Amino acid sequence: MADWLEEARLDLVFDVRDTRSAQGRLEMHVKRVTLDDLVLFHGHACDGLLRGAYAMRALGDVAFDGGPFDRSDLEVVSKNSPCLGDVAAYLTGGRLRFGTHRLDDSLGVGFVVREVSTGRTWEVREELGFFPALIGAWEAALLDDDLVDSGSLRAADKVELIAVNEARQWTWVREVLLASRPSDHYIVQLLEGVELPAPIHRARRSDVVNRDAPVPEQYVSPYEPLMGSGGLPRGGEGSLWELRYDEGPPQFARER
Ligand SMILES: [Zn+2]
Repeated sequence: MADWLEEARLDLVFDVRDTRSAQGRLEMHVKRVTLDDLVLFHGHACDGLLRGAYAMRALGDVAFDGGPFDRSDLEVVSKNSPCLGDVAAYLTGGRLRFGTHRLDDSLGVGFVVREVSTGRTWEVREELGFFPALIGAWEAALLDDDLVDSGSLRAADKVELIAVNEARQWTWVREVLLASRPSDHYIVQLLEGVELPAPIHRARRSDVVNRDAPVPEQYVSPYEPLMGSGGLPRGGEGSLWELRYDEGPPQFARER
């Protein structure tokens, strides 16, 4: 990664929180997602990923007061952009298959994020005119096969223009975006009474079923320190709760 992008990644970080396992309660400890992580997940660094990260940072600073994104409790709406969609899914935990990542192309560069437990909903949008219209027009044109098919754009010219487009995107990121703060051009507001777009398809999300279970009072797993609690194991193996577990769940016990 270039030096100037290396510098940017120091600021652009996101703390996230998840459940502890597929049946687990909410983990109170947070993990830090960096720009490098976003790039690895997405597959490349690009202006869309950076603009999405700026937008999400601005939203998180207002909605969560700079605190962690609880990926077990968020639904997100994004445009159907590979880059913005990946930022949305990775940072909020929203997934198409759970119906918690919905699509709305009218959002442009921005997101709607809803906290499931409270229903509170925020929107962030990039300020109109912040991104150069010329680059935006080329981005759309270079994805439009009709231009070549109809003879409006020579295929050989397109190859060159793809490279120019990429250079212009990075120059804008370097000189304009990274010289600004997320709150400068990404505007956050709390929304009242909005309906999210319909999910494309939906299947049950199981890893948040027990997210609100309290910390156990008696049984502490010997693995607990590994999970980051910092506490020492107390009354783990051989306890009454392990014996109860060995009997199997109710259905299992009846069937034996
Ligand atoms: Zn991208």
